[in-house]
Amino acid sequence: MNCKNAVKALPEYLDLTLGKDEALGVRDHLALCPECREEARLFSSSWEMLDVLETVQPSAYFRAHFWERVREQETRAWGRTGLFSRFPLAPALAGFFVLWLLGVAGGAHLFKLRHRTVTTTEIALNRFLSPYPQNSVEHIFQEGRTPGGNV
Ligand SMILES: [Zn+2]
Repeated sequence: MNCKNAVKALPEYLDLTLGKDEALGVRDHLALCPECREEARLFSSSWEMLDVLETVQPSAYFRAHFWERVREQETRAWGRTGLFSRFPLAPALAGFFVLWLLGVAGGAHLFKLRHRTVTTTEIALNRFLSPYPQNSVEHIFQEGRTPGGNV
């Protein structure tokens, strides 16, 4: 047996799970090869250190609690992305709705401006504030009258 095969078989050799013929081959190689003997010593000391550590025993409810937490996380993740994954056009529809709302509001405002009635107070105020002399062409146009017509 060469070094490569001996080192490869070491874990099973030390665990006593190697076949009899192979185990004899590893044993004979270790007797002749100091490098592989050192490798085997390091292996077994590592395993002994692992044996010192206590084996962690999960609580009786660990498995049930674990899957409960997984379901909670999945529910939360679905809640965060659920709206857009269920309705992928939702952002576009929301944008169109906002634009439609702005159009309706703007149209209503323009309609109101165009069809508003000028009060007599506004006419009197315009006459008072106008820089043009009364009954001048500029003043008449400013009031929206036609020249020669009546107010
Ligand atoms: Zn060797």
